Order: sequence, then structure tokens, then C-alpha cells
Amino acid sequence: MFDCGEGTQIQMINYKIRRSRVNHIFISHLHGDHYFGLIGLINSFALLGRVQPLHVYGHAALKELIDFQFRLSDTQLPFQLVFHSFEKAGIVLEAKTYTVEIFPTRHRISCYGFIVREKKNLRRINIEETKKREIPFTAFAKLQAGEDYVELNGTIIRNNVLTVENDKPKTYVFCADTIFDEQLAPVIKDADILYHETTYPHTHLQKAAERFHSTTKQAAVIAKLSNAKKLLIGHFSAKYDELGIFEQETREVFPNTELALEGVTYLI
Ligand SMILES: [Zn+2]
Ligand SMILES: [Zn+2]
Repeated sequence: MFDCGEGTQIQMINYKIRRSRVNHIFISHLHGDHYFGLIGLINSFALLGRVQPLHVYGHAALKELIDFQFRLSDTQLPFQLVFHSFEKAGIVLEAKTYTVEIFPTRHRISCYGFIVREKKNLRRINIEETKKREIPFTAFAKLQAGEDYVELNGTIIRNNVLTVENDKPKTYVFCADTIFDEQLAPVIKDADILYHETTYPHTHLQKAAERFHSTTKQAAVIAKLSNAKKLLIGHFSAKYDELGIFEQETREVFPNTELALEGVTYLI
């Protein structure tokens, strides 16, 4: 989970997201709209008797904040809370099928964005061919890794006969809150989906800069410069009920843009 605003628990219930599926929570920075839901969520995990460990990633001060709150309420968590503090850019989570990498954005306080990279996909076994040639299952791991197959009589069967190329590994980038910063482009390049904030329409260019936020067109320029395939925009200023202007302005520069709306699933 990336960031945990006030309404997170309610929306998890509304959209039937199982709590047990949340094992890693990343908090980009300590502005309230990005973490005010965290303590409540951790507390609910405790009340519901969670036993599996929970990993929380964020600024070192967040650990103090969590400890302080639970100390005051004399709460003992029935599960292990493992805290990972942000120190420098790089990989902070290496899971079996993906990694999560952090990078600093330019905001009013220390803030990090996240890159989720699928690990390089292995080659896919061509079941028809392996069946036909009676290749044993025990040889599959090596085939997936790209090796040729050697039969008992010494005949070599080329790997590309027995396997096919898999889809390219996917990348998702979450840019958190940030002022327009061209230097981000090489860091986040080639995302399949790039989430970038557009707090203001482009007419509020000045205000956006003063508050270390971005406008529609600025997000679109970053998407273009970084060669993103698709741009998701969000973090709209609460003054706007009508989001059409955000979508329209961003699409003028980067057509493959969508509004990040609550409850919608975006396929990467
Ligand atoms: Zn912020
Ligand atoms: Zn914010």
C-alpha cells in the first residue's frame, strides 16, 4: 500500500480489499493527507488479532510517531511491526516477483516516490513441444532460465524450440507529492503506468510552485520526458469538484492520461 490517508479503512471495506493482503505499507511523507489513516489501520489489525508481521516504510520520524501513540494508549501489538526508515534512494523491498525502489521527490518536506518493478520474467515452457519430446519436468527450471536441453544420446535441443519469450516485466511509478522537476524523468523512465500529482490546473502555475506541487501540464511533460506509456493523475486540490479540466489540460500534452479515481482498478 502506498500512503494511507484518513479514509483508507472505509474504502478498503467498500471495495472489499482484504486486510490480510496488506503486508507492506509505504508512506511517502509526513503531510497528514498521506498518513493520517495509518495508526487507525494498524490498530484495527491489532483488534482483529493479526499475527502476520507488518512492514512499514517511511521517514524515521514516523516510527517515533507510531511508538508514541501506542505507548500512550498502552497498546501491545499482537504481531511484529517491522519499520524500515528511508535513508537513501534504492531498493527497500525485494520480494519474490517484484522489487520496490524509493527515490526523493522535491516537496516542502522530505518526500519519496516509489518504483515497483516486476522481476525479469523467465521464459515460458512450450508445453506442446516438451510433451512431444518427453522432456522431464525436472528440466523445466533450466529451460525457463534459457538453457538448451541435452538428451541422453547427446542431441542438443535449442532452448527456443522448447520455450517462448514471456511478456516484458512491468513497472509502476508512484511519484507522491512533488514540484515540477525535470530531473525526475531519468529516474522514473519507461514506466508502464506513471502516477504523477496534478494538484492544480495550469493557470495556477505560480501557486503550484510556491506550495511544491505540480500542475496538469507539468505532470504531462514529466510523463513525456520519462517516456511513460500511460499517465495517471491525482491529488487534485479540494477546491475542484469538477475534474474534467484536469483531464483535458493534461491530455493536451500527454494524450494517454487518466484520472486516478477511487475504486477504479487500472491494469498495468
Ligand atoms: Zn505533501
Ligand atoms: Zn499531499
